Formats: sequence, C-alpha cells, structure tokens
Amino acid sequence: MKSIAVVNYAEEKGSVALRELDRPRIRTDEVLLEVANVGVCGSDLHQWTADHSWPVNYPVVLGHEFGGHIVELGTNVDGWKEGDRVVSETAAVIDATNPLSRQGLYNLDPTRKGFGYGVNGAMTRFVRVPARCLHRVPDQLPFEQACLTEPCAVAYNAVLVNSTIRPGDRVLVLGPGTIGILCAAMATLAGAEVAVVGLENDRSRLEIAKGYGCETIIGDATEWAMRYDGMGVDCVIDAAGVSATLRSALDYVRPNGHITKVGWGPQPMNYSLDPLIQKNVTLQGSFSHNWPIWEKVLALLSTGKLDVKPIIGGVWSLGDWHEAFEQMHSGKVVKSVLTPK
Ligand SMILES: [Zn+2]
Repeated sequence: MKSIAVVNYAEEKGSVALRELDRPRIRTDEVLLEVANVGVCGSDLHQWTADHSWPVNYPVVLGHEFGGHIVELGTNVDGWKEGDRVVSETAAVIDATNPLSRQGLYNLDPTRKGFGYGVNGAMTRFVRVPARCLHRVPDQLPFEQACLTEPCAVAYNAVLVNSTIRPGDRVLVLGPGTIGILCAAMATLAGAEVAVVGLENDRSRLEIAKGYGCETIIGDATEWAMRYDGMGVDCVIDAAGVSATLRSALDYVRPNGHITKVGWGPQPMNYSLDPLIQKNVTLQGSFSHNWPIWEKVLALLSTGKLDVKPIIGGVWSLGDWHEAFEQMHSGKVVKSVLTPK
C-alpha cells in the first residue's frame, strides 16, 4: 500500500515534491503512527528554500511536529496499545550511551538525528517512531493543537528552563514567528511583562501576539526597554532568524540581565560583543527540548492554560502542501498545519 508524502529530495532550492512511499516497516522498539496532523516548521521552509545550516539525509519526508494514533507496535514495545493518541518528540535517533543522553539531555547528543531531516518525518500517512519518543495526548486535546507540542516545547525550554524569569520581570521577545509568539506566551505565564518586536510587514503576526497578553512593537524597542528605570529589560529572548538582532538585544538588556538566543541565523556577526562584558550579561543558547518539557507542555495545552489555536492559520491537505508552505513563508499565517487525510 502506497501513501503520498511531502519529500525534500535534493539540496537545490525548491527540491520538495509529493512522492509515493511504501508503508514503513517498524523495528522491535518502534510503533507505526498514523499521522492525524503535522505542523509546518520554519525549518521545513528552510530546507525547501535551501537556506538551512544542518545536514539533510536526502531524500527525506519533511515534518517533525506531529501527532496521531498508534496503528502497529514492535514486539519490544510496552505500555502502549493500538489506537492510543500520541505526539512524538523529534530526536528520532540518539546514542543512548552518550554522556548527554545518560543525563536526559539527549536533545544535545551531537549524533542525534531528527525527523524531517535525518530520518523520514510525518508529512505522510504513516511514520515509524521509537516508543521512547511518545507522549500520551489527553482526549480533550485535538490533534490540530497537539501537533504543536513541539514548538511549544522549544519555547518552554528557552523561556522557562534556559532563562530565569520571575513574576514582575520585563521580557522583550525579538521576532513574531511561531517560536517568538510562543516564547511571549510562556513569559506571560511566568508573570512577566512582555513585548514582542517585529518589522513593518509583521503587523498581522504581531496582532496575534497581542492575544497572548503582551504588547507589540514595530522596529525600535528602546523606548519600551528603558521604560520605568531606564536600565533595560531583565531578559531578551531572541527568536528572530537573523544574527543582527543579537546586537539590538545587547542594547535592550539591563546590566546583569539575560539574553536567550533561540532563533538561528547563519550570517556571521560584524560587531563587538564588548557590551556583553561591560553589562555583565549572560548570553544563553537554547536548543530543542526533552521528555519532562513535553509533559509540562501537554499539561499546559490540555488544561487550556496555553491555547495554540490563535497561531494556527489554516489546515491544508498534503496535496496542498505548497500553499501551506507559501502562506507561512510570506508571513500571512503564523503556523500552517497539514493533514494527510
Ligand atoms: Zn519545528
């Protein structure tokens, strides 16, 4: 039985097309998941437009933000059954003996390979998933929302694990993409006063950010950053996809403050980091997520404390993947979701 899949087949720009695939055969420690929904990530777009900075195992099925039902179980899989509603983490291949993996930080295992670039992802009907990647999705949480557990986990790690934010802190988020908006939502949950910064053509995405209880700023955020005591903000979350924003972050952050960089930017920087020293600032990277973070995010989503509905710009069938990618790429929608049905 063949199913269609959105496949990134080569390194050249635009090398994404629908292809037919056989139903995957699972290994003993894996389950076969029938995909209900899969989110389009900025990184899927980057592989499509060929401006990504990570190695891709061509040809590969795109998609790493997904959930669905278990339809088949490997002989060594315990604790799950057919029909279970699940979402999957993204670290499809890890070295369990790696010192980072042994610490539970398998997201930082340098040999880690993720769905959608290292192994076949979920923009298709069936995907094979190691059982250790699975998390149960409560019945009241629809898959359209549950498939966004992954970007929420990225934001949770950046804001609530890798940054220290206390109630009353002032937090500036640079970049109103999915991750930026979700970071703002997390900082609001932590009791901070939050503003999201974007550019002129980000207006519609900033409007969505407002729904998460934060202010929005177009362009220069100095006035907001210096409001009250003139010292700058406690924390800047850099979720923009360019290197240049770190320079602004250094201006906005207060002495002894914190900058967390979660947005990738392949461009080299041509400025001095001396303000980092002079202001005694902590610069923190944040990458991916691990098991406890997924459980916390699923709790937030299923209790309604975090609502991802406002960021979902539409649900498209796999056949309309191009439209779904284009809408998100142009910034018309924050997040596109696909359904293989
Ligand atoms: Zn993603």
